[in-house]
Amino acid sequence: MAGKHIIILGPPGSGKGTQAVRIAEQLSLRHLSTGDLLREAVTSGKELGLKAKAFMDRGLLVPDELMLGLVQEQLGGEEGGWILDGFPRTLPQAEALSAMLDKSGVIVDHILAISVDPQVVVKRVSGRRVCESCKAVYNIETLENGEDTPCEKCGGKLIKRADDEEATILRRFEVYKDQTEPVLDYYKSRVDGIVAVDGSRRIDEITAEIIRALK
Ligand code: AMP
Repeated sequence: MAGKHIIILGPPGSGKGTQAVRIAEQLSLRHLSTGDLLREAVTSGKELGLKAKAFMDRGLLVPDELMLGLVQEQLGGEEGGWILDGFPRTLPQAEALSAMLDKSGVIVDHILAISVDPQVVVKRVSGRRVCESCKAVYNIETLENGEDTPCEKCGGKLIKRADDEEATILRRFEVYKDQTEPVLDYYKSRVDGIVAVDGSRRIDEITAEIIRALK
């Protein structure tokens, strides 16, 4: 099944990043997360990071022109399969992606559309911690020593993302409804393989369901 091209859409805290990592592993796809790329650009002090940080910290979207440059750089010359996580997030991004893929003859095979309740999201995201070094994601409720538990993959320090405060999460949810839900409608008439996923269930159950649907 290698070589598939998949887009995963879902509100903040829907588990889209977690699922994207697992699906990429199981189907040998490249995982491309624009959120991770932006956070890396912020940490390494790149110009893109400096421009993006203020938007990200406030729960707003980074302007389309910055995002398109970033994605073009990453997808240019890419031949294998991928799962896009966090992109496209606006209609202009979706249209630009279609133009980019048309040129290289790549067809989007599946859209994974994860849905989840805002209340579930607030609870989940305010407990979310990420490893400062390898970016692995955890939840405070399942960590043996709470905040002080080191990352089980690399021993790194676990931190809270700057945009995971409650008010910011709610704003990100609104931004998702306004700007990203229309992206799902855009794909409904263009991609046959739309897979609706209930994101309020257990992580393993969701992964298993997605893998079944992709086969
Ligand atoms: P994520 O890790 O996908 O939740 O992304 C974190 C933040 O990065 C978002 O809240 C946005 O500020 C920014 N971001 C990531 N991807 C995009 C995108 N495609 N367009 C605009 N902003 C983005």
